[in-house]
Amino acid sequence: MDYLPIFLKLHGQPCLVIGGGGIASRKVDLLLRAGAHVTVVAPEANETIRVRAKADNGAETPTGNDSSSRAHLAWVARTYKTSDIDGQRLVFAATGIEAVNQRVFDDCQAQAIAVNVVDRTALCSFIMPSIVDRSPVIAAVSTGGNAPALARLLRARLETVLPSGLGALAALAGRYRERVKSALNTVTERRRFWETAFEGEPAELVLAGRVNEAEVFLDEILDKPDPSPTGEVYLVGAGPGDPDLLTFKALRLMQRADVVLYDRLVSQSVLDLVRRDAELIYVGKQRGHHTMRQTHINEHLVELAREGYRVLRLKGGDPFIFGRGGEEIDSLASHNIPFQVVPGITAASGCSAYAGIPLTHRDYAQSCVFVAGHLKDGTVDLNWQALAQPEQTVVFYMGLIGLPVITRQLVAHGLSPQTPAALIQQGTTPEQRVLTATLETLPELVEREKPRPPTLLIVGSVVELHARLGWFKKGAEDYTYNLIQVREPSA
Ligand code: SAH
Repeated sequence: MDYLPIFLKLHGQPCLVIGGGGIASRKVDLLLRAGAHVTVVAPEANETIRVRAKADNGAETPTGNDSSSRAHLAWVARTYKTSDIDGQRLVFAATGIEAVNQRVFDDCQAQAIAVNVVDRTALCSFIMPSIVDRSPVIAAVSTGGNAPALARLLRARLETVLPSGLGALAALAGRYRERVKSALNTVTERRRFWETAFEGEPAELVLAGRVNEAEVFLDEILDKPDPSPTGEVYLVGAGPGDPDLLTFKALRLMQRADVVLYDRLVSQSVLDLVRRDAELIYVGKQRGHHTMRQTHINEHLVELAREGYRVLRLKGGDPFIFGRGGEEIDSLASHNIPFQVVPGITAASGCSAYAGIPLTHRDYAQSCVFVAGHLKDGTVDLNWQALAQPEQTVVFYMGLIGLPVITRQLVAHGLSPQTPAALIQQGTTPEQRVLTATLETLPELVEREKPRPPTLLIVGSVVELHARLGWFKKGAEDYTYNLIQVREPSA
């Protein structure tokens, strides 16, 4: 981080603005909104500054750091001198005169006073973010001075997602804080209360301007709190790796969970989006290393939910596609634990999209089959006759180890050795690699290139399309599909 984001309390604090034009005037306005006692030093000042200073002059005269006194503006009509900065908390320079700005900066640095020369990042000991003001809620965005236009764009986006009644909601919460602390004993109970307040009916009421009704609602909860809320389980598909492929619902539940059980396929960038103070439990499932056995996972989910937790079972891809999600909810259902299942983008969809290999295509394949290709006792036990069909795409999950067996069996059951086949490593992540070959040559290529798991095998003539669709052109340059590196096997 180049800058530490903080929110300063400036009520009644002396602040100085040097310059009296439009830019200076906007800083004056911000400082006054924050309750500061502002002095403007400038030979000339614009209308806004003059009017406000005149109104404040003779009103209440603030004395020093009196935090109870209201915001106040004074205008000193002359040029800057060094002693102006004495005792100031913050100094802004917006004079448009390079030499003056530089002098203000040097003077402030010498006395360790926080200084901002407007639009001169090099002459700032602090910088101003773009803000969305829903006081007491304030959202601030900074790009560290690198891209002010981007900061403004982000602010505009925040404007659209932060409802105008948000301030009223935060103010309501402020009024209930102490009462909630004494009425509800555990952290979990208190969090539940706030989640109801902020996401449930009370929030809707406040945003609709019906604050009194919201208070009645909250009072009822506090008067008779539910001593043992039942937990629930969210079985959520985390997609193949790229966090942008999560669903809105997945993200919302990830932000709600108290405890998270995740396995190896869930990428770090997806885990980063889980609520920060949720407890994370790794339940493994690497080939041959079952960190936690499936029955144990099932039991654990039941226990945690019975203790009242909101449990997130986060799985790579889709929970119902080779994810044993069915077994987990079967166990929950038999114990009467409420649960929700959220589908995810399965590896076949993610990998095929990011590699430019459509799973079906009018001219190549009319059907597509997903199969588990793991090796058991040295063989892969599948209905090979059904898989070795023309105009069909076959996607093998967990097929890396069994690859030589799979390719051999497909050829033995009638597919041409020249049938195109692709192995996609870590699809949809920055480490994605696509190896394309034929049923005959793929095992050898894989042996040589040693792709890292997880990998997905796609067999069928649609793989030919990768050479054409795995890239896109923009102007004169070639880009890899979706900006992810695709390496071709050497011929
Ligand atoms: N439920 C998951 C699949 C779990 S089985 C889903 O719907 O995607 C595990 C197998 O999925 C891996 O062995 C691999 O074949 C495949 N897989 C999962 N994520 C992958 C990825 N990002 N790239 C390639 N293959 C992946």
